[in-house]
Amino acid sequence: MTEPFTVAIDGPAAAGKGTISRAVADHFGFAHLDTGLLYRAVGARMLDGVDPVTAAMALQANDLQARDLRTAEVAQAASKVAVIPEVRAALIDFQRAFARRAGGAVLDGRDIGTVICPQAEAKLFVTASVEVRAQRRYQELVDKGTVTSFETVLADVKARDARDSGRVTAPMTAAQDAILIDTSELSIEQAVATAIAAVKDCH
Ligand code: C5P
Repeated sequence: MTEPFTVAIDGPAAAGKGTISRAVADHFGFAHLDTGLLYRAVGARMLDGVDPVTAAMALQANDLQARDLRTAEVAQAASKVAVIPEVRAALIDFQRAFARRAGGAVLDGRDIGTVICPQAEAKLFVTASVEVRAQRRYQELVDKGTVTSFETVLADVKARDARDSGRVTAPMTAAQDAILIDTSELSIEQAVATAIAAVKDCH
């Protein structure tokens, strides 16, 4: 298929969006963009002392691979720069161009189905209870050798949820026509199969 076909996958941190998005992209042969990385890269530049709006306007594709953007510190910085309307505005064109590339694209984030691609052919909102999400994120960090506690991770996830849902510009919310997938009680395989079936229905 060479026509554009956009799959928008939104939801809170550690709900399984990343795994599901990669699997959906692989299954359909679509390109995948983890839009959280854009905000993480800007957040990391802010931690370096760079003005976030300047950083967002100057963002290059290789800034997304240049360093470890998957730390808890960078995640918090990302959700802080993500409330700034000028930062969000600077990142829109890149995301929309990616979404409409030939051959199909999966974008995952917080506002893909609502703001970036309201016309997406398929929209999913992937969620899970805050405790399940914190447990998953805690396990990921422990597996990477990070020293932390479940309580710290739970507090971090809650703080990020509150900032992401409470902001004025492009708050995290399910699009009215999004298909809701709660992964709290699903295995990875079940969550992926549910998402693939949902996208097939939109094809
Ligand atoms: O998805 P990830 O956890 O990597 O995102 C990091 C932060 O970037 C989120 O907490 C959110 O504040 C912000 N973000 C956003 N809009 C997106 C993707 C991420 O505001 N589309």
